[in-house]
Amino acid sequence: MSSSGRGIVIVGDSIAGCTAARELRARGHGGPLTMIGADADGCYARPPLSKHVLKGEAAEAETWDLSDLDITTIGDRAVSVDTESRTVSTAGGTHVPYDSLIVASGAAARRIAGPDQAGETVLRTFDDVRALRPKLEAASTAIIIGAGFLGMEVASACVSRGIEVTVVDVDPPLKRLLGSFLSDAISARAEDASVRFVRTESPVSLSGRPVTGVEFAGRTLEADLVVTCAGDVPETAWLAGAGIADDRGVAIDERCATACSGVFAAGDVAYSRTGPGRAPFWSNAVAQGKVAAASALGIEPACAPTDDYFWTEILGLSIKVVGPLPLDGKPTVLEGSVQQGSALLQWNHRDGRTTVVAFGIKKPVGLLRRLTRGSVAATNQGIHS
Ligand SMILES: Cc1cc2nc3c(=O)[nH]c(=O)nc-3n(C[C@H](O)[C@H](O)[C@H](O)COP(=O)(O)OP(=O)(O)OC[C@H]3O[C@@H](n4cnc5c(N)ncnc54)[C@H](O)[C@@H]3O)c2cc1C
Repeated sequence: MSSSGRGIVIVGDSIAGCTAARELRARGHGGPLTMIGADADGCYARPPLSKHVLKGEAAEAETWDLSDLDITTIGDRAVSVDTESRTVSTAGGTHVPYDSLIVASGAAARRIAGPDQAGETVLRTFDDVRALRPKLEAASTAIIIGAGFLGMEVASACVSRGIEVTVVDVDPPLKRLLGSFLSDAISARAEDASVRFVRTESPVSLSGRPVTGVEFAGRTLEADLVVTCAGDVPETAWLAGAGIADDRGVAIDERCATACSGVFAAGDVAYSRTGPGRAPFWSNAVAQGKVAAASALGIEPACAPTDDYFWTEILGLSIKVVGPLPLDGKPTVLEGSVQQGSALLQWNHRDGRTTVVAFGIKKPVGLLRRLTRGSVAATNQGIHS
């Protein structure tokens, strides 16, 4: 860091930003550290929102305490950055100078409602959950748009509340992410739980003002509750004109450096211009937060800027994945049985890499990581670590 005393500014106070802050202090940054966050609920974890908080198993979001880090926090939205004067400006009119900037502004839920269409329901923030919970309590029927992991987690919350649920997508559940084998297994489990899938070849739009259903291919489906789980959009509006972001997000290299000197990025806002592109998952946000912090200090990162561990929970089934995605073809079954909802599976990719999936079976992530590196002996009778 330069000796100007401007210090490091982080925009975004979720997992990527908070990890970067903790790493900066852990790696010896004793200078000024400012974190700008737009969410009135502060720093909290998103994964439990669609699992425990939505189901009512937990009332509140899981929050983090950063009070030991001596950070100046600004609860406001960054609206612009001037890379010449190295200043971030907020909606409230605060101008915050920086030597290094870490962009960790994440993503927002992708919305599909028309401009004059009120009442679209999405799930990205704790506030979204607060709005969604009473609707779940009142609903007997629901339509979920999108059969990705988020759509399937919301469908699971509906099932646990006895709501009749229809999931609409162009693809079968989680097929783009996990491939046909696991998609078929998840479909079978969902259909056993009376989840109805509707495939559409054309894009869906929302019907009603306010929203009451979906329209696609000349059909209209209506329900008490319609939830859009159609992916996310990197939060880059505040970077407009700065030469830091494009329409895919913020391009980063192996050190999480952007095209702009002194500006680094981490998490859902970023995509790797050399590696796997955009991978908007928790473990990546953690890894990139650490790498961006080290790079802002000009020191060697302690980890790689990608981490291919991902997990989800669908209809009471925990699915943990370590390794590259998507998954083509059939796996080797290392333990258990997919039909019985408890199996350890391994995919060997053509490029020599391996993906291991714990499908409804309790396995520590460390073991899955070791299996992908081939450092654990696996037979179809079991795993010998
Ligand atoms: C409901 C849900 C469940 C999930 N479950 C899983 C899971 O099971 N497994 C998994 O691997 N991943 C899961 N994810 C994905 C994971 O949560 C994200 O990858 C992770 O939150 C990304 O962290 P981030 O810090 O990059 O961005 P975000 O979490 O999007 O946080 C960005 C923060 O920046 C703030 N911000 C944005 N713009 C500005 C601005 N202009 N000024 C100031 N602040 C700004 C936002 O308010 C936000 O707090 C889930 C996501 C959701 C929404």
